[in-house]
Amino acid sequence: MKENKDKIKDKIKNKDKAILDDNKLIKEGFITVIAGPCAIESWEQIDLIAGIVKDFGLNFIRGGAYKPRTSPYSFQGLEHKGLEYLSKIGKKYGLKTVTEVTDAETVEEVAKFVDVLQIGTRNMSNFALLKKVGKVAHETGKSVILKRGWASTIKEWLLAVEYITSAGGTEVVLCERGIRTFEPYTRFTLDLSAVPVIKKLSKLPIIIDPSHAVGQSDLVIPMSRAAIAVGADGLIVEIHNEPEKALCDGQQALDTHQTKEMLEQVEYMAKFFGKKIR
Ligand code: PEP
Ligand code: MN
Repeated sequence: MKENKDKIKDKIKNKDKAILDDNKLIKEGFITVIAGPCAIESWEQIDLIAGIVKDFGLNFIRGGAYKPRTSPYSFQGLEHKGLEYLSKIGKKYGLKTVTEVTDAETVEEVAKFVDVLQIGTRNMSNFALLKKVGKVAHETGKSVILKRGWASTIKEWLLAVEYITSAGGTEVVLCERGIRTFEPYTRFTLDLSAVPVIKKLSKLPIIIDPSHAVGQSDLVIPMSRAAIAVGADGLIVEIHNEPEKALCDGQQALDTHQTKEMLEQVEYMAKFFGKKIR
């Protein structure tokens, strides 16, 4: 009788753990693929793309509301309205939401609307932002994606993590998104060696952003495949229902057909490690 009770207790515990794992970005035995547009442009756009993400069986959608653009004349994002749309979309489709937080003043506001806080490459060394994100993530249980600064070393990147975690425990996932080299053909140079190096130096999960690294949609698929081969825990990829009309980074966004192809290839690679896509 007691044995039975213990078994039931264990079952409940494991179920809780599964629920917890599902809320986290990285889950044992799975490759997490986060997909979505560079920027949220309108309700119709994010609604259509969320439908695509859901149809492919994925669980996480990305979408920028506050966009840190290199040029002040480029589209800067829908800001607060974008957060509202993303939050509504997450509920409508049962998707977890990921968006970038660009300054310390808006961290609390962003955390009210999304599940995962992303820190972009331009802000990896913004220590005030890192500390604030760490504090808010700890208080709210949100996960954090920390992108590598495009001119930062792996050591600097790992120290930046500690600014986030020193406020308390939270899930921090590193994201390699390309570094600046002398090669101008691709937007940046994807440093895939960062994956095994991070695995060697830390216990942190690491995902790859092939989109911002290569900057051209046809190159995103082979680099996604390579990311899994080298041991990445997941991907964050820009997709769009109409890339040619995108207000931001359309040239690197996968259309629906390319998204399907990318996922098929990633699934094939994941199987090699006995993993599934989520
Ligand atoms: C993004 O993911 O929307 C983005 C701006 O990426 P990065 O910070 O890597 O340039
Ligand atoms: Mn982008």
